Order: sequence, then C-alpha cells, then structure tokens
Amino acid sequence: MTRKYNFSSGPAALPEPVLRRAQAALWDLDGSGIGVLEHSHRGKAFRAVLERTTAAIRDVAGIGEDFAVLYITAGATHHFTMVPHNFLGEGDTADVCHSGVWTTKAMTEMRRFGKVHVACTSEPGFDATPGPPAYSASPRYVHYTSNETVYGTQWAAPPANPPAPLVCDASSDIFSRPLPLANHGLIFAGAQKNLGPSGVVLTIVRKDLYDRIGKSVPKIWSFKALAEAKSCLNTPPTFGVYFLLETFKWLESQGGLAAIEKRNAEKAALVYGAIDASGGFYKGTVADKPARSHMNLTFLLPSEELTDKFVKEASKNGMVALKGYRTVGGIRASMYNAMPVAGAKALADFMGTFAKANG
Ligand code: PMP
Repeated sequence: MTRKYNFSSGPAALPEPVLRRAQAALWDLDGSGIGVLEHSHRGKAFRAVLERTTAAIRDVAGIGEDFAVLYITAGATHHFTMVPHNFLGEGDTADVCHSGVWTTKAMTEMRRFGKVHVACTSEPGFDATPGPPAYSASPRYVHYTSNETVYGTQWAAPPANPPAPLVCDASSDIFSRPLPLANHGLIFAGAQKNLGPSGVVLTIVRKDLYDRIGKSVPKIWSFKALAEAKSCLNTPPTFGVYFLLETFKWLESQGGLAAIEKRNAEKAALVYGAIDASGGFYKGTVADKPARSHMNLTFLLPSEELTDKFVKEASKNGMVALKGYRTVGGIRASMYNAMPVAGAKALADFMGTFAKANG
C-alpha cells in the first residue's frame, strides 16, 4: 500500500518516522518487554518518557523554567472553559482578538465566567487577521488564535503591546515556527494537527500566574494542581505523551523550529503560487496576503461542480481530504509540519493541470 498525501485539517498527517517508532513502541517500549500502552504511569519507564518529553520540548522550543509544560487529557475546546474558569472571575474582563470560528467558541464560554471585550476583529468575512487591538482598561488576559483553521488566516506576529498576559490557542500552528513566548501567559494546543494523537492537549503556562487561579476551581481543572503533579494528578494520556516525545525528536532532526518554519513557507508558496498564477481560476479566500496561513490554505473554484470535480480528481491522484469547511466552501489544503514538500508540489502541479483543463 502506498500512503496518500493527506490534507486533512485534523486529525492530520503525522511524520512517517514517528509513526514507525510508535508502531514499534506499541509492542516494546525501549527494550522493557512491555508496550507503551501497557506501562503504568507511575512506573519508571513511563516516568522516564515524561521527563524526556518535557526536556525535548523545552529544548526544541526554548521554554525556560518560568513556564510549566502540561499534558492534559482533553481537547483544545476544554480550554475554552478551563482558561476562564482558572483566570476570569465575576466582574473581570478578558480581551479577545476575534478572528473567526475558534474565538467565537472561546468567547461563548468566557461569558459564563466574566465579561468579554472584543479588542479587534476581522468580522464580517474573517478574511484577514484583525487590525491593531484597542484593549480594555484592565483585562485579566488577552485571548487570540494564532492560526484560524477554518478561515485560513495566521497572525504574522502575536497581538502587540498587550496590557495583560496573552493566552494563545495554537492548536493549528504550534511548533510550525519558533514559539513566541514573550508576553504570553498560556499557550495551548490540541495535539491532533501538528503533534500527535487526539486526546492530549499540550499546555504551556507561566508559573507566576498560579496565584491568580480562582479558589473554586476543581483540582483536576486547575493549571497549578496539574503542574504541581507533573501532569500525573490522575492517569495522563500516556501514549500521547510518548508520541509527542518522538515528534519533538523528529523536529530536532529536521533542524528545529526555524528550519521547519522555512520549509512550511516553501510549501505554502508552492500552493499560493498556483493560485496566483491561475489567472483568477482559483481565488484565495484570504484577501490580505500577509495573513495567509501556512497551515490551512483556502481557495475557491469558479463553481461547486468544478470544486467537486477537483476533489474527486485530486483523490484519484492520491491527494485526499481537500474539501473546504462547509461555511467557507471551496478547497482547504491543510499542510502541517508532517506534509512533505513533495506533497505541496504534487498539489500545486495538479492545480495547474486542472486549471488548464477546466479554465
Ligand atoms: N482551536 C482551533 C484553532 C482548532 O483548529 C480546533 C480544532 N479544529 C480546536 C480549537 C478544537 O480542538 P478540539 O477538537 O481538540 O477540542
């Protein structure tokens, strides 16, 4: 069987060498005679995995001891509740840089705990990243989504001059480029796009924020309690943690985050190049070119019929999961770290051929 180029937005393609390592570890972890799924989270072998994973993340992303690194059994969506539960009391305000579907969902949950101030927005079309923020007087934190998975926009740099710690939902671009830790209080990412299996969230939280956590927060949802228990307050997502370790080792072997960023830009340029060279056959949905995502590349064809034909023919050519999100339509090509340059090139070439035949 040959593997396909999988353009799914998530769960998404993972690096082949990592999948092979994980396959072997299911049978036998590090010569222990026991598979990774079968080790106790309290045992020596898994403890070693946990420590190595955190060391590898700190190393690859340059995360110092002022931040805790957590592996939480959950989805990114849980964090839409967890973050305000921890940090937003009644009467408090959280500022939001509003860029689409994911900040909409986050704000719905925030409003259960406190007030929301929209500091900037790219409504109504969400076809750019929002303009300069107008922050409220004293927000508890400033929430943004570094990459809008649905609308295909990505912040070139985090919101400037925040008056409070930034909280970043980095689910769809974590470690696709160097991690901008400055001004950040908390960064979270569901693993299933750029890191590993679904069911584990990587959360990076600044330790000096622990004393701002509300007293009523149940232990299992408290970032402080989870950090102090080194993610082992209860059974952590052991396989997910192991997988992250292998992913970070792979990132290191690829030259680290700066090299990955360069490769992602190269891949994106191939596909955006095919859009821009098509004489209007393909239309990028993101009006503002610097805001075009390097992870989720969204574009429209002249008609629904042609869109369906494109998806079908691409699939016959080994490129799958290209159909756009229902509210945006068209095509969404998700190309996370694991998508090789050859995959982006195959898509760009196919786009050129298809436009010539159908334009
Ligand atoms: N935030 C962003 C930016 C996402 O892309 C997604 C999933 N597509 C989520 C949050 C929700 O993640 P989960 O399904 O893990 O809750």
